[in-house]
Amino acid sequence: MTHVAVLGGGIMGCATAVLLARRGVDVTLFEAADRVLARASRWNEGKIHLGYLYAGDRTLNTARRLMPGGLAFRRITETLLEQSIAPAIGADDEVYLVHRASVASVRATAQYLAAVASLVREHAEVAGSVAPDAGRAPATLASTDLARITDSADIVAGFRVAERSVSTNWIADRLEAVVAATPRLRLRLGARVAAVTPAADRTDRFHVQTAEDRDGPYDAVVNALWEGRLAIDRTMGLSPPAEFSHRYRVAAFVRLSQPVDVPSVVIGTGPFGDAKRYGERDVYLSWYPAGLLDESDALAPPTEPRGSADVDARLLIDITTQLGSIVPAVRQVLSNTDHASIRGGWVYANGRGSLSQPWSTLHRRDRVGIHRVGRYLSVDTGKYSIAPWLAQQVVDQLV
Ligand SMILES: Cc1cc2nc3c(=O)[nH]c(=O)nc-3n(C[C@H](O)[C@H](O)[C@H](O)COP(=O)(O)OP(=O)(O)OC[C@H]3O[C@@H](n4cnc5c(N)ncnc54)[C@H](O)[C@@H]3O)c2cc1C
Repeated sequence: MTHVAVLGGGIMGCATAVLLARRGVDVTLFEAADRVLARASRWNEGKIHLGYLYAGDRTLNTARRLMPGGLAFRRITETLLEQSIAPAIGADDEVYLVHRASVASVRATAQYLAAVASLVREHAEVAGSVAPDAGRAPATLASTDLARITDSADIVAGFRVAERSVSTNWIADRLEAVVAATPRLRLRLGARVAAVTPAADRTDRFHVQTAEDRDGPYDAVVNALWEGRLAIDRTMGLSPPAEFSHRYRVAAFVRLSQPVDVPSVVIGTGPFGDAKRYGERDVYLSWYPAGLLDESDALAPPTEPRGSADVDARLLIDITTQLGSIVPAVRQVLSNTDHASIRGGWVYANGRGSLSQPWSTLHRRDRVGIHRVGRYLSVDTGKYSIAPWLAQQVVDQLV
Protein backbone atom coordinates (compact mmCIF):
# COMPACT_ATOMS: atom_id res chain seq x y z
CA MET A 1 0.00 0.00 0.00
CA THR A 2 1.78 3.15 -1.12
CA HIS A 3 -0.78 5.85 -1.86
CA VAL A 4 -4.24 6.23 -0.29
CA ALA A 5 -6.95 8.81 -0.99
CA VAL A 6 -8.90 9.86 2.09
CA LEU A 7 -12.14 11.70 1.28
CA GLY A 8 -13.45 14.22 3.84
CA GLY A 9 -11.55 16.31 6.38
CA GLY A 10 -13.72 15.78 9.45
CA ILE A 11 -12.44 13.94 12.53
CA MET A 12 -12.84 10.61 10.70
CA GLY A 13 -10.86 11.61 7.62
CA CYS A 14 -8.21 13.61 9.49
CA ALA A 15 -7.58 10.86 12.06
CA THR A 16 -7.35 8.24 9.31
CA ALA A 17 -5.01 10.36 7.18
CA VAL A 18 -2.62 11.17 10.05
CA LEU A 19 -2.47 7.57 11.31
CA LEU A 20 -1.89 6.22 7.78
CA ALA A 21 0.85 8.76 7.04
CA ARG A 22 2.58 7.88 10.31
CA ARG A 23 2.64 4.27 9.15
CA GLY A 24 4.63 5.33 6.07
CA VAL A 25 1.79 5.60 3.56
CA ASP A 26 1.48 8.58 1.19
CA VAL A 27 -1.94 10.09 1.74
CA THR A 28 -3.98 12.66 -0.18
CA LEU A 29 -6.81 14.14 1.90
CA PHE A 30 -9.65 15.69 -0.16
CA GLU A 31 -11.83 18.35 1.51
CA ALA A 32 -14.48 20.53 -0.16
CA ALA A 33 -14.19 23.38 2.36
CA ASP A 34 -11.23 25.76 2.58
CA ARG A 35 -10.07 24.18 5.84
CA VAL A 36 -10.39 20.80 7.53
CA LEU A 37 -12.54 20.24 10.62
CA ALA A 38 -14.89 23.08 9.77
CA ARG A 39 -18.15 21.14 9.91
CA ALA A 40 -19.90 18.61 12.19
CA SER A 41 -16.63 17.54 13.82
CA ARG A 42 -15.94 21.08 15.05
CA TRP A 43 -19.51 22.00 15.96
CA ASN A 44 -20.92 19.24 18.12
CA GLU A 45 -21.49 18.64 21.77
CA GLY A 46 -18.56 16.26 22.10
CA LYS A 47 -20.30 13.76 24.32
CA ILE A 48 -17.97 10.78 24.54
CA HIS A 49 -20.69 8.20 24.36
CA LEU A 50 -20.59 5.15 26.56
CA GLY A 51 -24.16 4.32 25.53
CA TYR A 52 -26.20 5.93 28.32
CA LEU A 53 -28.12 8.15 25.90
CA TYR A 54 -29.69 5.26 24.04
CA ALA A 55 -32.31 4.05 26.52
CA GLY A 56 -34.64 3.82 23.51
CA ASP A 57 -32.63 0.78 22.35
CA ARG A 58 -33.44 -1.80 25.01
CA THR A 59 -31.35 -4.46 23.27
CA LEU A 60 -28.23 -2.59 24.53
CA ASN A 61 -26.77 -3.10 21.05
CA THR A 62 -26.17 0.64 20.60
CA ALA A 63 -24.37 0.86 23.94
CA ARG A 64 -22.26 -2.19 23.06
CA ARG A 65 -21.36 -0.68 19.69
CA LEU A 66 -20.44 2.80 20.96
CA MET A 67 -18.70 1.83 24.19
CA PRO A 68 -15.30 0.55 22.97
CA GLY A 69 -14.75 3.64 20.83
CA GLY A 70 -15.84 5.95 23.64
CA LEU A 71 -13.48 4.29 26.11
CA ALA A 72 -10.59 4.42 23.61
CA PHE A 73 -11.26 8.04 22.59
CA ARG A 74 -8.79 9.64 24.97
CA ARG A 75 -5.94 7.21 24.29
CA ILE A 76 -6.14 7.43 20.50
CA THR A 77 -6.82 11.18 20.38
CA GLU A 78 -3.84 11.89 22.64
CA THR A 79 -1.68 9.74 20.33
CA LEU A 80 -2.97 11.72 17.35
CA LEU A 81 -2.41 15.11 18.96
CA GLU A 82 0.76 14.06 20.81
CA GLN A 83 -0.53 15.87 23.89
CA SER A 84 -2.97 15.43 26.75
CA ILE A 85 -6.61 16.34 26.07
CA ALA A 86 -7.27 17.03 29.77
CA PRO A 87 -7.96 20.78 29.15
CA ALA A 88 -10.74 19.84 26.68
CA ILE A 89 -12.64 17.54 29.04
CA GLY A 90 -15.86 18.89 30.55
CA ALA A 91 -15.85 19.67 34.26
CA ASP A 92 -18.72 17.49 35.45
CA ASP A 93 -20.23 14.06 35.15
CA GLU A 94 -23.41 13.96 33.12
CA VAL A 95 -26.82 14.25 34.77
CA TYR A 96 -29.63 12.48 32.91
CA LEU A 97 -32.97 14.14 33.49
CA VAL A 98 -36.01 12.05 32.61
CA HIS A 99 -38.71 14.09 30.89
CA ARG A 100 -42.39 13.35 31.51
CA ALA A 101 -42.73 12.61 27.75
CA SER A 102 -39.65 10.35 27.63
CA VAL A 103 -39.91 7.24 25.46
CA ALA A 104 -38.37 5.31 28.41
CA SER A 105 -40.07 5.43 31.84
CA VAL A 106 -38.11 6.32 35.00
CA ARG A 107 -37.95 2.65 35.95
CA ALA A 108 -36.85 1.57 32.48
CA THR A 109 -34.24 4.36 32.43
CA ALA A 110 -32.85 3.33 35.84
CA GLN A 111 -32.55 -0.28 34.70
CA TYR A 112 -31.01 0.73 31.41
CA LEU A 113 -28.39 3.04 32.96
CA ALA A 114 -27.41 0.36 35.48
CA ALA A 115 -27.07 -2.23 32.69
CA VAL A 116 -24.83 0.11 30.66
CA ALA A 117 -22.62 0.78 33.70
CA SER A 118 -22.11 -2.95 34.22
CA LEU A 119 -21.13 -3.32 30.58
CA VAL A 120 -18.60 -0.50 31.01
CA ARG A 121 -17.11 -2.24 34.05
CA GLU A 122 -16.58 -5.45 32.05
CA HIS A 123 -14.57 -3.55 29.48
CA ALA A 124 -10.80 -3.82 29.36
CA GLU A 125 -10.15 -0.12 28.65
CA VAL A 126 -12.05 1.57 31.51
CA ALA A 127 -9.01 3.22 33.11
CA GLY A 128 -7.68 6.21 31.20
CA SER A 129 -10.95 7.09 29.53
CA VAL A 130 -12.38 10.60 29.31
CA ALA A 131 -14.72 10.02 32.27
CA PRO A 132 -12.85 9.50 35.54
CA ASP A 133 -14.22 6.41 37.28
CA ALA A 134 -16.13 5.28 34.17
CA GLY A 135 -18.32 2.36 35.10
CA ARG A 136 -19.33 3.76 38.47
CA ALA A 137 -22.95 2.82 39.16
CA PRO A 138 -25.42 5.59 38.22
CA ALA A 139 -26.79 7.46 41.24
CA THR A 140 -30.42 8.52 41.53
CA LEU A 141 -30.58 12.21 42.47
CA ALA A 142 -32.29 12.99 45.76
CA SER A 143 -35.15 15.47 45.35
CA THR A 144 -33.09 18.29 46.90
CA ASP A 145 -30.23 17.67 44.42
CA LEU A 146 -32.69 17.48 41.55
CA ALA A 147 -34.28 20.77 42.63
CA ARG A 148 -30.86 22.46 42.43
CA ILE A 149 -30.71 21.57 38.72
CA THR A 150 -34.30 21.90 37.58
CA ASP A 151 -37.48 23.62 38.69
CA SER A 152 -39.62 22.05 35.95
CA ALA A 153 -42.61 19.81 36.66
CA ASP A 154 -41.81 18.09 33.34
CA ILE A 155 -38.74 16.45 34.87
CA VAL A 156 -39.65 13.34 36.83
CA ALA A 157 -36.23 12.00 37.86
CA GLY A 158 -32.49 12.55 37.53
CA PHE A 159 -29.45 10.25 37.50
CA ARG A 160 -25.76 11.11 37.71
CA VAL A 161 -23.64 8.93 35.43
CA ALA A 162 -19.89 8.71 34.82
CA GLU A 163 -19.85 10.14 31.31
CA ARG A 164 -18.20 13.36 30.03
CA SER A 165 -17.99 15.56 26.98
CA VAL A 166 -15.02 17.26 25.34
CA SER A 167 -14.68 20.66 23.68
CA THR A 168 -14.69 19.73 20.00
CA ASN A 169 -13.37 23.19 19.09
CA TRP A 170 -10.30 22.66 21.27
CA ILE A 171 -9.59 19.30 19.64
CA ALA A 172 -10.34 20.57 16.10
CA ASP A 173 -7.79 23.41 16.42
CA ARG A 174 -5.05 21.02 17.45
CA LEU A 175 -5.91 18.25 14.97
CA GLU A 176 -5.97 20.79 12.14
CA ALA A 177 -2.40 21.81 13.09
CA VAL A 178 -1.28 18.16 13.24
CA VAL A 179 -2.73 17.49 9.77
CA ALA A 180 -0.84 20.49 8.36
CA ALA A 181 2.45 19.35 9.94
CA THR A 182 2.30 15.63 9.08
CA PRO A 183 4.86 14.50 6.48
CA ARG A 184 3.50 12.32 3.61
CA LEU A 185 0.06 13.93 3.99
CA ARG A 186 -0.96 16.03 0.98
CA LEU A 187 -3.97 18.24 1.64
CA ARG A 188 -6.32 19.17 -1.21
CA LEU A 189 -8.60 21.89 0.17
CA GLY A 190 -11.50 23.27 -1.89
CA ALA A 191 -11.65 19.92 -3.70
CA ARG A 192 -15.23 18.66 -3.90
CA VAL A 193 -15.21 14.97 -4.77
CA ALA A 194 -17.69 14.06 -7.51
CA ALA A 195 -16.91 10.37 -8.07
CA VAL A 196 -14.53 7.50 -7.44
CA THR A 197 -13.85 5.17 -10.34
CA PRO A 198 -11.74 2.03 -10.70
CA ALA A 199 -8.67 2.59 -12.91
CA ALA A 200 -9.20 1.37 -16.50
CA ASP A 201 -6.27 -1.05 -16.43
CA ARG A 202 -6.55 -2.37 -12.86
CA THR A 203 -9.80 -2.60 -10.90
CA ASP A 204 -7.90 -2.63 -7.59
CA ARG A 205 -6.71 0.97 -8.16
CA PHE A 206 -8.87 4.08 -8.14
CA HIS A 207 -9.21 7.59 -9.52
CA VAL A 208 -10.82 10.42 -7.57
CA GLN A 209 -12.84 12.81 -9.72
CA THR A 210 -13.22 16.42 -8.53
CA ALA A 211 -14.63 19.48 -10.35
CA GLU A 212 -11.05 20.35 -11.41
CA ASP A 213 -9.43 17.08 -12.33
CA ARG A 214 -9.18 13.32 -12.18
CA ASP A 215 -6.58 12.45 -9.54
CA GLY A 216 -4.78 9.17 -9.03
CA PRO A 217 -4.43 6.29 -9.38
CA TYR A 218 -4.63 5.37 -5.68
CA ASP A 219 -4.09 1.95 -4.12
CA ALA A 220 -7.02 2.45 -1.76
CA VAL A 221 -9.78 4.94 -1.01
CA VAL A 222 -11.32 5.75 2.37
CA ASN A 223 -14.65 7.54 2.03
CA ALA A 224 -15.22 9.61 5.22
CA LEU A 225 -17.57 12.19 3.70
CA TRP A 226 -20.35 11.90 6.32
CA GLU A 227 -23.43 13.44 4.67
CA GLY A 228 -21.64 13.33 1.30
CA ARG A 229 -20.69 9.65 1.63
CA LEU A 230 -23.60 7.78 0.05
CA ALA A 231 -23.50 9.80 -3.19
CA ILE A 232 -19.85 8.84 -3.74
CA ASP A 233 -20.51 5.21 -2.76
CA ARG A 234 -23.15 5.22 -5.54
CA THR A 235 -20.50 6.22 -8.11
CA MET A 236 -18.62 3.05 -7.06
CA GLY A 237 -21.80 1.01 -7.63
CA LEU A 238 -22.63 0.62 -3.93
CA SER A 239 -26.30 0.85 -2.92
CA PRO A 240 -27.42 2.93 0.07
CA PRO A 241 -28.75 1.11 3.16
CA ALA A 242 -32.45 0.22 3.26
CA GLU A 243 -33.22 3.12 5.59
CA PHE A 244 -31.30 6.29 6.32
CA SER A 245 -31.99 9.94 7.08
CA HIS A 246 -30.20 13.26 7.40
CA ARG A 247 -31.15 15.87 10.01
CA TYR A 248 -29.52 19.30 10.07
CA ARG A 249 -29.09 20.28 13.72
CA VAL A 250 -27.62 23.39 15.27
CA ALA A 251 -26.87 24.36 18.87
CA ALA A 252 -25.48 27.41 20.67
CA PHE A 253 -21.74 27.53 21.44
CA VAL A 254 -21.44 30.36 23.93
CA ARG A 255 -18.38 32.11 25.35
CA LEU A 256 -19.45 33.65 28.65
CA SER A 257 -18.36 37.08 29.82
CA GLN A 258 -18.30 35.74 33.38
CA PRO A 259 -18.74 32.22 34.78
CA VAL A 260 -22.30 30.87 35.03
CA ASP A 261 -22.81 27.60 36.87
CA VAL A 262 -24.48 25.72 34.00
CA PRO A 263 -24.75 22.01 34.89
CA SER A 264 -23.91 19.26 32.38
CA VAL A 265 -27.33 17.76 31.72
CA VAL A 266 -29.08 15.79 29.05
CA ILE A 267 -32.86 15.64 28.99
CA GLY A 268 -34.08 12.31 27.67
CA THR A 269 -35.12 10.16 26.15
CA GLY A 270 -36.43 11.89 23.04
CA PRO A 271 -36.34 15.23 21.23
CA PHE A 272 -35.37 17.46 24.17
CA GLY A 273 -32.10 19.21 24.94
CA ASP A 274 -28.69 19.38 26.59
CA ALA A 275 -26.38 21.79 28.37
CA LYS A 276 -22.62 21.34 28.71
CA ARG A 277 -19.91 23.36 30.35
CA TYR A 278 -16.27 23.12 29.28
CA GLY A 279 -13.93 25.03 31.54
CA GLU A 280 -15.29 28.19 33.19
CA ARG A 281 -16.37 30.19 30.18
CA ASP A 282 -17.59 27.87 27.41
CA VAL A 283 -21.05 26.33 27.29
CA TYR A 284 -23.02 24.30 24.76
CA LEU A 285 -26.79 24.63 24.75
CA SER A 286 -29.19 22.70 22.58
CA TRP A 287 -32.94 22.42 22.36
CA TYR A 288 -33.77 19.83 19.73
CA PRO A 289 -37.07 21.23 18.35
CA ALA A 290 -35.53 24.72 17.98
CA GLY A 291 -32.24 23.52 16.49
CA LEU A 292 -33.61 21.01 13.97
CA LEU A 293 -33.44 23.19 10.85
CA ASP A 294 -33.81 20.67 8.06
CA GLU A 295 -34.39 17.00 7.27
CA SER A 296 -33.57 15.12 4.09
CA ASP A 297 -33.79 11.54 2.92
CA ALA A 298 -32.00 12.41 -0.34
CA LEU A 299 -28.80 10.52 -1.09
CA ALA A 300 -26.97 13.89 -0.97
CA PRO A 301 -28.64 16.49 1.27
CA PRO A 302 -28.28 20.16 0.26
CA THR A 303 -24.94 21.83 1.06
CA GLU A 304 -26.79 24.93 2.32
CA PRO A 305 -29.67 23.56 4.39
CA ARG A 306 -33.04 25.27 4.62
CA GLY A 307 -33.21 27.84 7.40
CA SER A 308 -29.46 27.93 8.03
CA ALA A 309 -28.97 31.65 7.24
CA ASP A 310 -29.89 34.71 9.31
CA VAL A 311 -31.36 32.77 12.18
CA ASP A 312 -28.66 33.09 14.81
CA ALA A 313 -30.08 35.77 17.11
CA ARG A 314 -33.57 34.27 17.13
CA LEU A 315 -32.21 30.76 17.70
CA LEU A 316 -30.05 31.79 20.63
CA ILE A 317 -33.14 33.23 22.31
CA ASP A 318 -35.29 30.18 21.42
CA ILE A 319 -32.71 27.71 22.71
CA THR A 320 -31.97 29.55 25.96
CA THR A 321 -35.67 30.18 26.63
CA GLN A 322 -36.80 26.62 26.04
CA LEU A 323 -33.87 24.88 27.69
CA GLY A 324 -33.99 27.55 30.41
CA SER A 325 -37.61 26.64 31.18
CA ILE A 326 -36.19 23.35 32.49
CA VAL A 327 -32.70 24.31 33.68
CA PRO A 328 -32.84 27.73 35.42
CA ALA A 329 -29.06 28.32 35.26
CA VAL A 330 -29.39 28.51 31.46
CA ARG A 331 -31.59 31.62 31.84
CA GLN A 332 -28.52 33.54 33.07
CA VAL A 333 -26.56 32.77 29.91
CA LEU A 334 -28.10 35.45 27.66
CA SER A 335 -27.20 38.31 29.98
CA ASN A 336 -23.67 36.92 30.42
CA THR A 337 -22.87 36.14 26.78
CA ASP A 338 -19.64 37.51 25.42
CA HIS A 339 -19.98 35.73 22.07
CA ALA A 340 -22.29 33.04 20.68
CA SER A 341 -22.05 30.89 17.55
CA ILE A 342 -25.08 28.99 16.34
CA ARG A 343 -23.49 26.09 14.52
CA GLY A 344 -23.93 22.40 13.85
CA GLY A 345 -24.19 20.14 10.85
CA TRP A 346 -25.92 17.23 9.22
CA VAL A 347 -26.50 14.16 11.35
CA TYR A 348 -26.58 11.05 9.17
CA ALA A 349 -28.26 7.99 10.68
CA ASN A 350 -29.21 4.51 9.52
CA GLY A 351 -32.70 5.05 10.84
CA ARG A 352 -35.92 6.92 10.27
CA GLY A 353 -38.79 8.45 12.19
CA SER A 354 -38.89 10.86 15.09
CA LEU A 355 -37.14 10.64 18.45
CA SER A 356 -40.55 11.15 20.11
CA GLN A 357 -41.67 7.74 18.78
CA PRO A 358 -40.52 4.75 20.87
CA TRP A 359 -40.51 2.59 17.73
CA SER A 360 -38.34 4.97 15.67
CA THR A 361 -35.20 3.30 14.37
CA LEU A 362 -33.33 6.54 15.19
CA HIS A 363 -33.02 5.15 18.74
CA ARG A 364 -30.64 2.53 17.33
CA ARG A 365 -27.09 3.56 16.45
CA ASP A 366 -25.45 0.18 16.27
CA ARG A 367 -25.33 -0.13 12.47
CA VAL A 368 -22.30 2.12 12.02
CA GLY A 369 -18.71 1.48 11.00
CA ILE A 370 -16.61 0.36 8.06
CA HIS A 371 -18.12 -1.02 4.85
CA ARG A 372 -15.41 -2.51 2.69
CA VAL A 373 -15.33 -3.64 -0.95
CA GLY A 374 -11.76 -4.62 -1.79
CA ARG A 375 -9.65 -1.56 -1.12
CA TYR A 376 -12.55 0.88 -1.18
CA LEU A 377 -13.60 1.56 2.41
CA SER A 378 -16.67 3.63 3.21
CA VAL A 379 -16.96 4.67 6.86
CA ASP A 380 -20.21 5.64 8.55
CA THR A 381 -18.65 7.46 11.52
CA GLY A 382 -21.94 7.29 13.41
CA LYS A 383 -20.58 9.39 16.27
CA TYR A 384 -17.71 11.80 16.83
CA SER A 385 -16.78 9.78 19.90
CA ILE A 386 -15.96 6.59 17.98
CA ALA A 387 -14.17 8.21 15.02
CA PRO A 388 -10.54 7.89 16.29
CA TRP A 389 -11.19 4.23 17.17
CA LEU A 390 -12.69 3.55 13.72
CA ALA A 391 -9.75 5.36 12.10
CA GLN A 392 -7.37 3.03 13.93
CA GLN A 393 -9.29 0.05 12.54
CA VAL A 394 -9.22 1.42 8.98
CA VAL A 395 -5.45 1.80 9.24
CA ASP A 396 -5.01 -1.70 10.69
CA GLN A 397 -7.05 -3.10 7.78
CA LEU A 398 -5.08 -1.24 5.11
CA VAL A 399 -1.51 -1.43 6.35
C1 LIG B 1 -25.47 19.50 16.85
C2 LIG B 1 -24.72 18.17 16.82
C3 LIG B 1 -24.38 17.56 18.02
C4 LIG B 1 -23.71 16.34 18.01
N1 LIG B 1 -23.32 15.81 19.21
C5 LIG B 1 -22.52 14.72 19.22
C6 LIG B 1 -21.99 14.24 20.46
O1 LIG B 1 -22.26 14.81 21.53
N2 LIG B 1 -21.19 13.15 20.43
C7 LIG B 1 -20.89 12.50 19.28
O2 LIG B 1 -20.17 11.51 19.37
N3 LIG B 1 -21.36 12.92 18.08
C8 LIG B 1 -22.16 14.02 18.02
N4 LIG B 1 -22.63 14.51 16.83
C9 LIG B 1 -22.30 13.75 15.59
C10 LIG B 1 -20.88 14.10 15.13
O3 LIG B 1 -20.75 15.48 14.92
C11 LIG B 1 -20.56 13.36 13.83
O4 LIG B 1 -20.83 11.98 13.99
C12 LIG B 1 -19.08 13.48 13.42
O5 LIG B 1 -18.60 14.79 13.58
C13 LIG B 1 -18.91 13.03 11.97
O6 LIG B 1 -17.55 13.14 11.66
P1 LIG B 1 -17.07 12.97 10.17
O7 LIG B 1 -15.61 13.19 10.13
O8 LIG B 1 -17.59 11.67 9.64
O9 LIG B 1 -17.89 14.12 9.38
P2 LIG B 1 -17.60 15.69 9.18
O10 LIG B 1 -16.97 16.31 10.33
O11 LIG B 1 -18.88 16.28 8.66
O12 LIG B 1 -16.54 15.67 8.01
C14 LIG B 1 -16.89 15.33 6.69
C15 LIG B 1 -16.13 16.27 5.79
O13 LIG B 1 -16.37 15.90 4.43
C16 LIG B 1 -16.49 17.07 3.66
N5 LIG B 1 -17.26 16.73 2.47
C17 LIG B 1 -18.55 16.30 2.38
N6 LIG B 1 -18.86 16.01 1.11
C18 LIG B 1 -17.74 16.23 0.37
C19 LIG B 1 -17.40 16.04 -1.01
N7 LIG B 1 -18.27 15.58 -1.91
N8 LIG B 1 -16.12 16.31 -1.39
C20 LIG B 1 -15.18 16.75 -0.50
N9 LIG B 1 -15.45 16.96 0.81
C21 LIG B 1 -16.72 16.69 1.23
C22 LIG B 1 -17.18 18.07 4.56
O14 LIG B 1 -16.89 19.42 4.17
C23 LIG B 1 -16.58 17.74 5.92
O15 LIG B 1 -15.45 18.52 6.23
C24 LIG B 1 -23.36 15.70 16.79
C25 LIG B 1 -23.71 16.32 15.58
C26 LIG B 1 -24.37 17.55 15.59
C27 LIG B 1 -24.70 18.20 14.28
